[in-house]
Amino acid sequence: MNSILLSLYHRLPAPVRSLAASLRGFHLLLWRYGPETHQLVKEALEREAWSREQWQAWQRSRLAYVLHRAATTVPYYRKQWEERRRRGDRASWEYLENWPILEKEPLRETPEAFIATDCDVKRMFHLHTSGTTGKALDLWRTRKTNQAWYALFEARCRKWYGVSRQDRWAILGGQLVVPVQQRRPPFWVWNMALNQLYMSSYHLAPDLIPYYLDALRGYHIKYLWGYTSSLYALAKEALNLNRHDLKMAVVITNAEPVFDYQRGTIAEAFGCPVRENYGMAEIAVSASECQAGKLHLWPEVGIVEILKGDQPVANGNPGDLVCTGLLNADMPLIRYRVGDRGTLGSDFKNAPCACGRFLPVLAAVEGRVDDVLYTRDGRRVGRLDPVFKKQLPICEAQIIQESLDRVRVRFVPAPDYCPEAGRSIIERLKARMGEVEVILEQVDVVPRTQNGKFRAVICNLSAEERCHLQNQAT
Ligand SMILES: [Zn+2]
Repeated sequence: MNSILLSLYHRLPAPVRSLAASLRGFHLLLWRYGPETHQLVKEALEREAWSREQWQAWQRSRLAYVLHRAATTVPYYRKQWEERRRRGDRASWEYLENWPILEKEPLRETPEAFIATDCDVKRMFHLHTSGTTGKALDLWRTRKTNQAWYALFEARCRKWYGVSRQDRWAILGGQLVVPVQQRRPPFWVWNMALNQLYMSSYHLAPDLIPYYLDALRGYHIKYLWGYTSSLYALAKEALNLNRHDLKMAVVITNAEPVFDYQRGTIAEAFGCPVRENYGMAEIAVSASECQAGKLHLWPEVGIVEILKGDQPVANGNPGDLVCTGLLNADMPLIRYRVGDRGTLGSDFKNAPCACGRFLPVLAAVEGRVDDVLYTRDGRRVGRLDPVFKKQLPICEAQIIQESLDRVRVRFVPAPDYCPEAGRSIIERLKARMGEVEVILEQVDVVPRTQNGKFRAVICNLSAEERCHLQNQAT
């Protein structure tokens, strides 16, 4: 929504805002679901019985189609291959490894050059994402691709957990559904088209959270979906208030990693499992967590490589996620560096996962490439959640690397906070980073990004410094 429309929307009375959200919802409904949806969901679930070899054969054949289409009908790639030919480069575009890595910048600068020339962009669904760093992306999909994507989502983000899109659900996301300065409920809109209560992530102050909890009960919400940090804030306050009337079927997190302490608190507050979902608007990779706690990749969406620079890392080691989208062949992203780091799990060669599926596994997603700290000897320190051990009397915390020798921890203390808890944070950080100065900064709230996301780790070293350290380490 542009800013003029948004300010008009914010001036509407609350019931009219819900009506506006519902109208938008009906528009989205037509783009997301159609007569084939039921069949598509059924087929997606049936494919989960496929063996590793069946998936590999399927991906090979789909990849051949996508690469051919990209090289011959997508202006950005066509130009790239023509230039290579002119330089006498005879590499074949039929092999994925011959394609260069696609960084975000060309996609940001000339997004329309990535659309196949036989598509009519006016008849495609347009997404404008703000991104965690505030740099926008424009993306397009046909109705068919969008419906295929939402069918997968229905199968693997809802059916797996025993819920469906017909159930009433609440989402805590980054949309400004209510003006930020508002201090009186409702802090949500009811979208009747999607059976969805869209709740604001920007009003989760402890004194306002009771209104949220009442709304979840009043609207008979069956499951929750949204930013991990927002769900955690809600859960923590529900436990503080001793509310035991909010039982959900499942809580599905997205957009941010889930730390153990968050998972435990959310599960306890809502009396249900917490399941992680990983994906992005570019639909080059998606994964969801099964009941055995494994993050399964969706092979129909894309092929995942784990690289360091442009070289593959040995299996089981972390690196940058570089993904080739298989679902959206009308705006194909080939070997696209998505901006997150992760590790592939080992394949299910003979026996399936404990959940019975053969789908491949993403062993870990460490979050954004920038969300790591660096030590003077060139080590990258990822997964920092053990710094905040369970039962630590803090509400939330953020680690910021200001220089190689200085790290700041912003934290919101819980009522039972004591200096010993602060000392524990310092000790645990030093145990991972070595001798660094750790500054503890007590705050009322940890600032969110422009689109309402919480960043647990921020590294403010310059790109040059990081590059230098990485080279030194190898
Ligand atoms: Zn599984």
